[in-house]
Amino acid sequence: MHSFEKTFRQYDWDTVKARIQSKTPQDVAAALGKSRRGPEDFMALVSPAAAPYLQQMAALSRQLTQQRFGKTIQLYAPVYLSNECQNICTYCGFSLDNPSGARPSPAQKCSAR
Ligand code: SF4
Repeated sequence: MHSFEKTFRQYDWDTVKARIQSKTPQDVAAALGKSRRGPEDFMALVSPAAAPYLQQMAALSRQLTQQRFGKTIQLYAPVYLSNECQNICTYCGFSLDNPSGARPSPAQKCSAR
């Protein structure tokens, strides 16, 4: 299984930071104009060059959110009553495939957040 940590460690974060810092207003405008965006577009949209585009990004975000979800609001509020779960979220100690078998108690999980 490919863990989040393994993926995270594949990146040289100084290089990623330099790439983000190097983005230009033209990169931001190009990213906003695309219907599908990739990592380079994401870097442009979180770069300092994107600051003047915040209103435009907010409007686009609102449009896409309403397009995908309509005007519904979903609330997720887990209440941990046991230390077992049927889901497999790699980052979580409660995960069904936790190989250690040592699961945190619900109280430990709550205090860790
Ligand atoms: S594995 Fe952890 S994060 Fe995923 S649903 Fe279960 S308790 Fe929540």
